[in-house]
Amino acid sequence: MNVIGKLPFVIATRFSQKYRPPLQQIRNMSLVRSLAFVNNQWVPASSGETFEVTNPANGQVLGQVPDMDVDDTEQAVNVAFEAFKTWEHTTAKERSVLLRKWYNLLEDNKDEIAQIMTAESGKPLSEAAGEVAYANGFIDWFSEEARRIPGEIVASPTQTKEMMMIRRPIGVAALITPWNFPAAMITRKAGAALAAGCTCVIKPAEDTPLTALAMADLAAKAGIPKGVINVVTCSRKKAAEVGRVLCTSPQVAGLSFTGSTNVGKLLYEQCASTVKRVSLELGGNAPFIVFESADLEAAVKGAIACKFRNCGQTCVSANRLFVQESIFNQFVAKLEEAVKGLKVGDGAAAGVTQGPLINDAQATKVKQLVEDAVKKGAKVHLGGKPASEMGARYFQPTIISDVDHSMRVYNEEIFGPVAVCIPFKSEEEVLAIANSTRSGLAGYFYSNNLSQIWRVAKRLEVGMVGINEGLLSAPEAAFGGIKESGIGREGSHYGIEEYSYIKYLCFGHD
Ligand code: ADP
Repeated sequence: MNVIGKLPFVIATRFSQKYRPPLQQIRNMSLVRSLAFVNNQWVPASSGETFEVTNPANGQVLGQVPDMDVDDTEQAVNVAFEAFKTWEHTTAKERSVLLRKWYNLLEDNKDEIAQIMTAESGKPLSEAAGEVAYANGFIDWFSEEARRIPGEIVASPTQTKEMMMIRRPIGVAALITPWNFPAAMITRKAGAALAAGCTCVIKPAEDTPLTALAMADLAAKAGIPKGVINVVTCSRKKAAEVGRVLCTSPQVAGLSFTGSTNVGKLLYEQCASTVKRVSLELGGNAPFIVFESADLEAAVKGAIACKFRNCGQTCVSANRLFVQESIFNQFVAKLEEAVKGLKVGDGAAAGVTQGPLINDAQATKVKQLVEDAVKKGAKVHLGGKPASEMGARYFQPTIISDVDHSMRVYNEEIFGPVAVCIPFKSEEEVLAIANSTRSGLAGYFYSNNLSQIWRVAKRLEVGMVGINEGLLSAPEAAFGGIKESGIGREGSHYGIEEYSYIKYLCFGHD
């Protein structure tokens, strides 16, 4: 079977036949902005400082954006706070119509957004196009959900009171997002926030601010009023001080963060001082389990999709692949065949499925994780080294086995194109290992035994389970984790709950 040809995330677009637009072309795109976005105005940092945005594929500087600080962030929060006073009183239909207009513009400009995303994140153009479609889907979805935020009337225990619960927007939402899904992590949060009647201050990742600014540009063109969406850009050096303002300002009602567990814990603590609403989507350590009754072709296809998509840099990526002993060798052989079909290179070039890792730090981490495993006795089936001929940030798609818990790959979130294959004997054993981590975001398993499917689906300690399926995200579904992978849910109708609170109204009468 041609597994690669069937990768669901490699959405065929006209890009797949084309080469990367030259640097100058990216810089000249109308949606590529070099200023931050506050109160529907393009603004510099008050200090005048900027930082560079580079292409991880080749190190080329794509542009500069403002390196904002505490004062700039306070200013943006203040603007969002003022805008909330009118935005919260718009009707659900008004918000729905504006979100729909934003969605239409995002769709009209999807090709350009995908090109900007590939340039700053390194992900293959076909994947970027897939992400843009997925990201826009959240605005589409929340434009509909805006009109379906129901309340409740309950039977009163007394004859002289009537009782009702309604939902109200919480206020200003601070949205801190990562680089691995530069568009979708913003729309998943901002779509829900705006639908609920909240305004927002977005702090995109320092690696990928251009996608965020392009989307904000289209929000303004769609007619979303000033101050409702603001984007504060800052370098990694300033992230802590900007983050502190967002987490401690009494004018901010809630924080939604997607990123690493360590930073998430820090922000959670900081939010305690003003008792904010907090929604966290943190690191995962997803088990990918293949039981002996599984359809092996389907399992390999799923493993490729959920291990090698975005070069393994997603929080729902399979981290450890557990395969039942009796089919272990067969599965690894098939996986090897499929992985050999992956193509490493500049994400904007034709046919590339594996772009660079996002930055030098990530490339070094993946290299060290593999070196540590090999030093302690792991067997390398494929790859195992940086693809240095491509540049410092590229890593060969890798399969390793013979790993144990003394190795870092066994315990840590890899965030790279390294499939770690581990044999297991029984369902009990594999569940115990899969659950023996403090993470609990996604888990996947392949089985054709119906009783086993129910048992394992219930017992995996995660917020999301892919059953005979390696890709599970969708605007219609509730995304989120348990344990230290986070709190709250994004997408689906539950996504709105993060940005609204229940207000109880009690009516007294004769
Ligand atoms: P990664 O290691 O994958 O970059 P991070 O959790 O460090 O993940 O980054 C996710 C987001 O959190 C980015 O927007 C980053 O700038 C931001 N961030 C990092 N450190 C802090 C901090 N101390 N306070 C607020 N935001 C932060």
